[in-house]
Amino acid sequence: MPLESAPRLDAYGGTGHFASGTIHCPECCVKKPDSKNPQYYHQLLACCLVKPGKKEVLPLMPEPIIQQVDASKNDCEQTALKRLLANIAREHPHLKLVLNFDDLYSDGPTIKLVKSYNYSFIMVAKDTSHLSLYEAVDELDIANKVVRHGYTDEDGYRHWFRFVNGVPINKSHKEILVNYLEYVEISPKGKKYTNTWVTDIYITLENVTKVMRGARAKWKIENETFNTLKTQGYNLEHNYGHGEMHLATNFASLTFTAFLIDQIEQLACPLFQKALSVSKSKKSLWHGIRGLFDWFIIDSWTELLTAITVGKSISLKTLMVDTT
Ligand SMILES: [Zn+2]
Repeated sequence: MPLESAPRLDAYGGTGHFASGTIHCPECCVKKPDSKNPQYYHQLLACCLVKPGKKEVLPLMPEPIIQQVDASKNDCEQTALKRLLANIAREHPHLKLVLNFDDLYSDGPTIKLVKSYNYSFIMVAKDTSHLSLYEAVDELDIANKVVRHGYTDEDGYRHWFRFVNGVPINKSHKEILVNYLEYVEISPKGKKYTNTWVTDIYITLENVTKVMRGARAKWKIENETFNTLKTQGYNLEHNYGHGEMHLATNFASLTFTAFLIDQIEQLACPLFQKALSVSKSKKSLWHGIRGLFDWFIIDSWTELLTAITVGKSISLKTLMVDTT
């Protein structure tokens, strides 16, 4: 599938949002359940729509990694992925997706699962976990079937590619052929970035840069999503309360919902963009919003964000909260 016809990239990643040695609920997964100090935890498998060159990400509903009914083992990312893809396909049947995965998922069963939904994929493929793939590429290289390509862009970055199409993903799934892409970037200051991916997108000299940029958008799930949710005032890992069954998962889902709304505003609302710029950081913007909510009755988002943008000179059509 050419990348042009599947412009939406969906990056995946798992993260923990609760861990405790004492507090727990029936949905908790448990590490060392038979020991004196079992550890209880909840995780999420998150996925976001990302686009190379765009800072904003749009999260879809994350899939909780929690104790499943009648399960003898802890839930894990791979089984959560099956539920997540079924949910995405059902809720967003019109989306043509290129799914971005890290090396953990880069195997035959995951590729079969992804292709069963007619999605495309780009997966990190480390040499340590793909020995036979790398050997097959080396053999094709000896037979002069591997393409090398390189150029320096207008900002002085050097890009070097080595790719070949139609290589078996591994020995146990020889029938699954993938397209292999090796990449090195050297910045003008000499900083080196390297990575290797496999994809079902047929790689050519014309689209190799686009495939590489799509593959590198994977970092957004760690940086723009988890990092923001943990350090920019969303407090994803805070224990808001564990409840009796679903509370911890529901709080985490609500946090993602708040993040989605903020990302849409950041992407499309000039007033929000201005308020964020004036506040310098998201943490500071949330602080300003909370402060105004504490003291004023706010009629609209426009009024609230305008107050933050222009400061004290705005005349809020509000009443002071009566504390007498
Ligand atoms: Zn729990």
